[in-house]
Amino acid sequence: MGLGNFVFLVIGLFHLWGWNVARGGTNSVARALIRVIESNGGTVLNRSHVDRVLVENGRAVGALLANGDEIRAERAVVCGAGHWQLVDHLVPRDTWPDDPDSQAFVRGVDRFRIDDAALFTTHLALREPPQWIGSEHNPDVNRTVAVYWGTDDTPTLKRQMWDVTEHVRPSVPGGLACTHSVADPSINPSGGHSTFTWEPTCYEVDDDPKSWDEICEEVGQELLREWRRYAPNLDDGNVVAAVHYSPLDLERRTISMKGGSMMLGDCSPDQMGPLRPVPGWAHHRTPIESLYVSAASCHPFAGVNGAPGRNAAEVIVGDLGVARWWPEYTL
Ligand SMILES: Cc1cc2nc3c(=O)[nH]c(=O)nc-3n(C[C@H](O)[C@H](O)[C@H](O)COP(=O)(O)OP(=O)(O)OC[C@H]3O[C@@H](n4cnc5c(N)ncnc54)[C@H](O)[C@@H]3O)c2cc1C
Repeated sequence: MGLGNFVFLVIGLFHLWGWNVARGGTNSVARALIRVIESNGGTVLNRSHVDRVLVENGRAVGALLANGDEIRAERAVVCGAGHWQLVDHLVPRDTWPDDPDSQAFVRGVDRFRIDDAALFTTHLALREPPQWIGSEHNPDVNRTVAVYWGTDDTPTLKRQMWDVTEHVRPSVPGGLACTHSVADPSINPSGGHSTFTWEPTCYEVDDDPKSWDEICEEVGQELLREWRRYAPNLDDGNVVAAVHYSPLDLERRTISMKGGSMMLGDCSPDQMGPLRPVPGWAHHRTPIESLYVSAASCHPFAGVNGAPGRNAAEVIVGDLGVARWWPEYTL
């Protein structure tokens, strides 16, 4: 279930619809959104950690930043960091309303499960792009952005997924390699190429995620050795630098991804659609008046798709009685 199945689905979709890449790298998407906000009179504060949502008389009225600054909100506060951040950190337990529905919301977020598989990633700076052994049969492979390697047939792929859903490191190494620089040289302005592989894995090694700090480098080197069997030119002469991130590193760098959960909550059927994140609370509102959530922990699910944000915007403008300024979505 969850991410395991999602990966199979994604691989199928790549073949059907191809692979969308933001020119210059995915942070171009964030930069474009910042331009939209600023050109409409908004302000974006980078590197500003939010310590608390300010709640007065049961209503969200702003945010308290880690540097002590208070940002006041006249109409609404929208949390884009997911439900775990909200319930675990941003709103203290005794601030949530005491009624049964509100308490069910908080308990539901506590029970909202992390992804059943996490990702280990190895990033490489390269002089030349990977030359895949598969290119002997199809030269286009070397011009392909996304190549799943290491699991050569369906039973092996299933085995890899089975291992991680059982919370052990995959017995069959391999994963999805993405070499965006073959399609978009602007991602490496100083020339050369870059690539990364993510391997599905488990968050807890020997029941302790901290074990990753001891084995991260070794696991990364192992992964690179295996990857080299499929792309032999990933040798010392070609690899300029290698960096490895464990699921624990991911959680530290992106604190919304609790337990290395890149979907901000497992995508199993019992945590999807109207059940995401908690039955009865899929509408982006929270038990606190004028406090909303817009993130991958909401319906439909994770990915750089913008859907939770758009859906939340629909609800918020409706509640505030503001005219929608974007076209209505029709199927
Ligand atoms: C290795 C990897 C590969 C992936 N590949 C793909 C892919 O190819 N395609 C795809 O569509 N998706 C991919 N994803 C998934 C995608 O990145 C996530 O699903 C998506 O980023 C979720 O978006 P989000 O805005 O809901 O949450 P996030 O991206 O987690 O954004 C939330 C932000 O809030 C910040 N934050 C949290 N708490 C606070 C606080 N208290 N104060 C201030 N800021 C805070 C976090 O630092 C973070 O920047 C990948 C994820 C990983 C880890």
